[in-house]
Amino acid sequence: MSKIRCTVAQLSPLTSGVTRVVLTPESQVPYRPGQYLQIWLSDEDKRPFSIASIAAQGQLELHIGGAVTDQYASQALAHLQQHSEITAEVGLGQAFWREHSQNPIILLAGGTGFSYVYSIAQAIAAAGVKRPVFLYWGVRDESALYHQTELAAWAATDEHYRFIPVVQNPTEQWQGRTGLVHEAILQDFVSLEAYDIYLAGPFAMAGVVRAAFLEQGGKREQMFADAFAYI
Ligand SMILES: Cc1cc2nc3c(=O)[nH]c(=O)nc-3n(C[C@H](O)[C@H](O)[C@H](O)COP(=O)(O)OP(=O)(O)OC[C@H]3O[C@@H](n4cnc5c(N)ncnc54)[C@H](O)[C@@H]3O)c2cc1C
Repeated sequence: MSKIRCTVAQLSPLTSGVTRVVLTPESQVPYRPGQYLQIWLSDEDKRPFSIASIAAQGQLELHIGGAVTDQYASQALAHLQQHSEITAEVGLGQAFWREHSQNPIILLAGGTGFSYVYSIAQAIAAAGVKRPVFLYWGVRDESALYHQTELAAWAATDEHYRFIPVVQNPTEQWQGRTGLVHEAILQDFVSLEAYDIYLAGPFAMAGVVRAAFLEQGGKREQMFADAFAYI
């Protein structure tokens, strides 16, 4: 873990409710794909956010959002808007990508939990992994799928990768999967025993997913989520 000063280099909307944040650390900072950082609002108030980038990129990218009523995100964003420099603790969490495992991989994101799986997905692509990778991204509305085009292109260029967006409240035009994201996975895999499963999203989702996946053969030691430490 490294505590470091960062310049707020960019705040730009990904959707009406999610902001892309780019931080430039004062020196290169190590972290693993799937780890998170904490933004220090004060000495007593530190907010964790998954790092969407990978260390080779130099800058730190975050996706901050969620429900409009959610002060967790809005207070952190206000802090970033009001300060050109902030303090962050980088390289936290145990749910990072297990690069040396040979198991096929399921990445499960609920809403802004996408930030976490995006980091791992980029690391997988950079490492040229040649084993099955299934990226499921569940959102309430289609408009929240801010990286859909990129992910569909990624899946189209490599036979090992699949991208499955799952919309909870679809419009009539939506032609993809619907419902809760973990239920789509339960439908698609008779057993989850063989898979390394990385997941991030609302705490309530993490609890539901853990119980349901264990029931469907998932191995606890092959399921990774920092939310498990909070629930
Ligand atoms: C270590 C850590 C890192 C964090 N990183 C971030 C971050 O990078 N960015 C950020 O904004 N916040 C982050 N948070 C805070 C928190 O995790 C987010 O507020 C949360 O992921 C926001 O989800 P959402 O509102 O986007 O999802 P929602 O829009 O509420 O849900 C998206 C989808 O998730 C599934 N889902 C939701 N609830 C349930 C349920 N009860 N049962 C089954 N499925 C469900 C559904 O498929 C739904 O469509 C982090 C928290 C911690 C502890």
